[in-house]
Amino acid sequence: MSVIPFDDRDGKIWMDGQLIDWREAKLHVLSHGLHYASSVFEGERAYGGKIFKSREHTLRFHASAEQLGFTIPYSAEVLDAAKEAVLKANGLSDAYLRPVAWRGSEMMAVSAQASKIHVAIAAWEWPSMFKPEIKAKGIRLKWAPYKRPSPETEPVHAKAAGLYMICTISKHDAEKHGYQDALMLDYRGYLAEATGANLFLVIDGEIHTPTADCFLNGITRQTVIALAREAGITVHERHMKPEELARVSEVFLTGTAAEITPVGEIEGQIFTPGTITHALMDAYTKATRG
Ligand code: PMP
Repeated sequence: MSVIPFDDRDGKIWMDGQLIDWREAKLHVLSHGLHYASSVFEGERAYGGKIFKSREHTLRFHASAEQLGFTIPYSAEVLDAAKEAVLKANGLSDAYLRPVAWRGSEMMAVSAQASKIHVAIAAWEWPSMFKPEIKAKGIRLKWAPYKRPSPETEPVHAKAAGLYMICTISKHDAEKHGYQDALMLDYRGYLAEATGANLFLVIDGEIHTPTADCFLNGITRQTVIALAREAGITVHERHMKPEELARVSEVFLTGTAAEITPVGEIEGQIFTPGTITHALMDAYTKATRG
């Protein structure tokens, strides 16, 4: 697979208040964000030049930083305008946006009280997280070797780099075995989420999704719950054990990058993307493309 490395592309990245050349958007190796995971980020999509739920993402970005004990030094207005400027500077209308904030290099130990907070925003074309032909059939999930931690263990509602350590390990394990993604249980053994997307199940024509009490309550998850209810579909948010999958007819994932992705298999258990998944995919396309 040949990919253009992300540090060697043409274009502009917004960094610490200004648009700079893509290749110059660098940080020092002695950055607290790199060594101690003091870093939070966002993932957003623009459709036809309009960023979907831009302000919600910006507010979550601020809130994630606060949960790690730092304040992003730019207002929501400034960040929203910066995102627009990044799209424009790169000539993008359908794109994925990645704001990221991290503690810098002033202190290099666990404590980093005096470290400066840096912010960057990049954007690029990313049509689909999973290949369209695989997505159409439904992706294959493998059980993850790690569980989502308890809220007493980590700031579980932050979109923070540190929480992705177990996601990358789990996703690599899944890919090594020929699956597209991993499905994580939580610390109690309840169904939780995939490595970068939330989980939805269909049982007897109704939707069931795990309670977001120890993982990200995705903006797409909230959108899809609202769209389902508008369509007259009953939605239950509750704790579920994996044994319940035996009663499930359809499974799908939701996320900014994944949008609505049907699931065709969870390690040997087969599901067929059906009417509810397809109806919500259509509704989500309409909602995002205005
Ligand atoms: N869970 C995880 C671990 C994620 O990385 C994401 C993607 N941000 C989601 C859920 C879905 O969140 P959203 O719908 O806000 O993109």
